[in-house]
Formats: sequence, C-alpha cells, structure tokens
Amino acid sequence: MSVKKVYLDHNATTPLHPEVKKVMREAMDKFGNPSSLHSVGREARKYVEEARAKTAGFIGASPEEIVFVGSGSEANNTVLSIFSCASKSCSFHSEVKKVVVTTAIEHPCIIESSKCLKDRGFDVRYLDVDSFGKVSIEQLEDILKGRKAGLVSVMMANNEIGTLQDIKLIAEIAHKYGALMHTDAVQAVGKIPVDVKKLDVDFLTVSGHKIYGPKGIGMLFVKTGTPFCPFVRGGHQEMGRRAGTENTLGIIGLGKAVEMRAKEMAAEDKRLKGLKKMLAQGIRKNIPDAHFNGHPEDSLVSTLNVSFKGAEGEAILLYLDLAGIAVSTGSACASGSLDPSHVLLATGISPELAHGSIRISMGRLTDKKDIEYVLDTLPGIIKKIRNMSSAYSKGGKNVPKH
Ligand SMILES: *Cc1c(COP(=O)(O)O)cnc(C)c1O
Repeated sequence: MSVKKVYLDHNATTPLHPEVKKVMREAMDKFGNPSSLHSVGREARKYVEEARAKTAGFIGASPEEIVFVGSGSEANNTVLSIFSCASKSCSFHSEVKKVVVTTAIEHPCIIESSKCLKDRGFDVRYLDVDSFGKVSIEQLEDILKGRKAGLVSVMMANNEIGTLQDIKLIAEIAHKYGALMHTDAVQAVGKIPVDVKKLDVDFLTVSGHKIYGPKGIGMLFVKTGTPFCPFVRGGHQEMGRRAGTENTLGIIGLGKAVEMRAKEMAAEDKRLKGLKKMLAQGIRKNIPDAHFNGHPEDSLVSTLNVSFKGAEGEAILLYLDLAGIAVSTGSACASGSLDPSHVLLATGISPELAHGSIRISMGRLTDKKDIEYVLDTLPGIIKKIRNMSSAYSKGGKNVPKH
C-alpha cells in the first residue's frame, strides 16, 4: 500500500510547471553565451530578452528595469548592499543616508543583511507588527520624521503567516520623507496582482522557484533613474548591474513561469480561498486549542499558519510526513534550529505556542481531496502528541511538570 502524497509546502518551494519544464528542456540545447556576437550567442540573447519582456510585463515594469540575479536572496542582499557601498564608481555613493527601516518579520536574507548594515554603523530600525502581523504605519512615520532615511524595505506577503502589507501606502510615506522603497515580493508576485507603477516602489524582489519556475533564478526590479550599485561585480551583463554570464536556462524558465501565472492565478485564487476556509473551519471544529496566526482577511489565500497548544511543531511535521503530508514549521530556512520563529514571536504569541505551529501552504495542484485527507489525519496526530506531552491536559490547560 502506498501512502498518499500531499505536498502542502508551496511557500518553501514549488514543483516546475509542466510548461516551464517543456521550454527548459528545449532550451538546454541553446547553449550560447548571450554576450557573444555570433548567431549562437544572438539566439541565446533573443530568448533572454523575450523572458525579460514577459517578466517586466507581468509586474508593469519596462524591460530595462529588470535585473536577473541568482535568487530572491541575492536580489534582497543587492538592495541592502547598495546603501553601504563605498565605491566611488557607484551612483549611490555620494548620497548615502545612514538610516534603514525594515520590519521584525522579514525573511532571514533581509534580517541578516540588515545586521551587516548595523555593524557598519547604520541606524537600522525594525518596525513592530500587531497580533495579525501588520506593520505599524504610525511607527514608520515616527521613525522617518526628522531623519534622513535611505531605504524602507517591507515585504509584501509574509512567507510564514501570509499577512499582506499595504505597500502602496508604505511607499508613499517612504517617499514623503525622501527614502527609497523596496519590497520583497517573493511570496506575492504570481499570487496577487502586483504592479510596480501603481505601488510606486523603487525596488522589488521576485524568485523563480516560488512560482513554479526553476531554483537559482531571481529578479530585481529597479525603477529607472534609481541609484544602484552591483552586488556581483566584474561584468557588463544586465547593463552592468549584475556580473556573470546569464543563467539562460533559469531566465527562460522564469519567463515561462510568469506567463503561466498570468494565465492561472485568478482562477486559482478563487479556488484556494474556498480550500483555506474549509481547512480552517475543519481544524477549528475538530481540534481544541488551535490558534490561527496571521491576518484573517489580508493574507495569502494559499497560506494557513496554526499553533496547537501543547504540541511541538516538529513532532506534528514528522507525524504528518509519515502520513505523506508535507508541511513546515516556521520557515524552511529556520529549520534545523530550535529557536521559535521570529515572525510568530513578533506577533506577540508565547514561545510555547510559537513552537507548536505549522505552516500549511497550498498551490496550483492542491485539491479538495488533499484538504479532506489533512482534516482526516491531523486531529488524531495532535491528540496523540498531546497525550504524550506533560504540558497538555485534557482540559486544555497547561499543567506544571511536577
Ligand atoms: C523564499 C523567499 C526568499 C528567498 O528566495 P530564494 O530564491 O530562495 O533565495 C526571500 N523572501 C521570501 C519572502 C521568501 O519566501
């Protein structure tokens, strides 16, 4: 008897879309270097530029505003590195402003690079979030008032709890005080409509493998006229903004991935909305002491984060895995560490409850049967773990260990 396989970890990564796989397979023979002037190189260049036009169109940008990079993490690192760049040849150098504002719930690649800025003498401020994971707009204004801030970087959709931020409003405030605006839109692009012109952001990050494209390809939108410094230096590629021979296969895959997202995302959004409701209602009905994390409405329809009092997230994950269901605890990048998620702690829940959380993230192939299977399986697992745990009694109260 084979175990049913249900993949519910789409915020960690997604399988290649069949159409992406197809174009990438064909592209494997197009080995040319897009910088070469002969016909083999020119053919590769043509494919790269087609992908650039598609990617730009998908977010309302112009093709020359798109910089292909090695990952979402690299795009985010690039943006933060601009502000500490000391190179005289860079356009940003003359106007470095040493205040950078970000949030307490960013992806580790922003959190860690912001710590670097701090170590270099930057005044880095982290916006708090409320219990739903929404950043404080008042706090943002308070910080920016009277300070010369260089950058505000706020993620559009959180990878752990799905909460969406009002990027348009945040960008407006950032600009009012003379700061540039970046948003890590890795979990938003391809799931909700994103238009860089409407949002009026200066930088925006996208990653291929979160939207059924290949791993190891990312994209940074840089608004025309925005000061910029390359993070990877030493080549003229990407108009001097990212050195290194282009990952042509990855770029072609990303181009196809956004093309497919444009076709599929609206219908998928409707479908997943229903499935998320069914999942949340089923959990609420069948499992006592479940606490839902994230915003009840302003949230990705694909993402449900829930904490179970008195049950370790790692144990839940392993039991679900035995049943063929793949979910995650906290974020995949934080797995291996036993620290509770910085995102959940920022929303104000206790470390114990944060430890008992799982993230269920659905995708384009998730169907009703998958959710029914989770709802059949999960209550028994939580019950079993709670029975083994001394920290949970039947009344749902925490009892001391002695
Ligand atoms: C996955 C993710 C990243 C990193 O993207 P990679 O391409 O895996 O480096 C950055 N930000 C968010 C919100 C993510 O979910």
